[in-house]
Amino acid sequence: MTFDANAITTIQTVLQILKKRWPDYTALLSLYGSIFEAQAKTRAHVNVPLSKIPAEILKIKQSEQLPLITAADFKYDLYQTGRLFEELCRLTSACDPPLGAAARNTLAQCRTGRIEPAALFERMMDDDDDYFDALQTKYGIDKAALAFLTYNSLLPSIEAGVGQLAGYFESPDDWTKGYCPVCGSLPCMAVLEGEGQRSLICGFCRHRYPGRRLFCPFCETTDTDQLDYFYAEEENEYRVNTCRKCRRYLKTIDARKLTRPLFTPLEQIATLHLDVKARESGFTGAMMFDPLA
Ligand SMILES: [Zn+2]
Ligand SMILES: [Zn+2]
Repeated sequence: MTFDANAITTIQTVLQILKKRWPDYTALLSLYGSIFEAQAKTRAHVNVPLSKIPAEILKIKQSEQLPLITAADFKYDLYQTGRLFEELCRLTSACDPPLGAAARNTLAQCRTGRIEPAALFERMMDDDDDYFDALQTKYGIDKAALAFLTYNSLLPSIEAGVGQLAGYFESPDDWTKGYCPVCGSLPCMAVLEGEGQRSLICGFCRHRYPGRRLFCPFCETTDTDQLDYFYAEEENEYRVNTCRKCRRYLKTIDARKLTRPLFTPLEQIATLHLDVKARESGFTGAMMFDPLA
């Protein structure tokens, strides 16, 4: 996703519409809306070193359909990430546990120097679960909540990196894998548009990439006996694709049925009842921090 100067207007418009439609989600949508707005503002200021991929490596990656980089390869703007981290901790500090408690405790530990935000960013990018485990044991900070705050602070830099790498795709429509062509992570949502083309949204870098229609992006099965979907009558713009082979599910939004702008991170929040339904049916999803927990 490249920077969209109108991102904040889009977020505010979508937010208002979704709150009216699902009043039960008002508080949660407001919280996430403020996080997404803070990210969009930061995105305009982040400065990350240019990612370059040598021509011979690029050729192999393209012919083998391998991701351009791994999630750990993303560079980040330390100053802007630090600023956003503090802002996100403040924005969430009044929330119910575990998020609010984690935000308040983290701010306090950062003030005394016991936790260094720079170390959090580094360890998050290295996917160092043990580090977050250790902080939970030592300071009682919920590790999933802390990972959520850290990851969301890094996201504007990650998106800037995606913007740089997008130029490496000559024919993006040729992609047939389930994982993200930029970072290799799995999708967190799908979008249908145009004449039924499906695109997948990367659960890590938010890159939007082509996805085959009758295909599970998690186990890559094309066996239609294993693939299914369900939706609620009154909200037919959303559906949940399920795979009996790997027991995973993916929420899909049909953009052709919308008369409003689309902002997929907010759609994910407004459809949490579909996650509940999918999980009750024995499927697992891909949310990093679970606001339902
Ligand atoms: Zn990605
Ligand atoms: Zn599957």
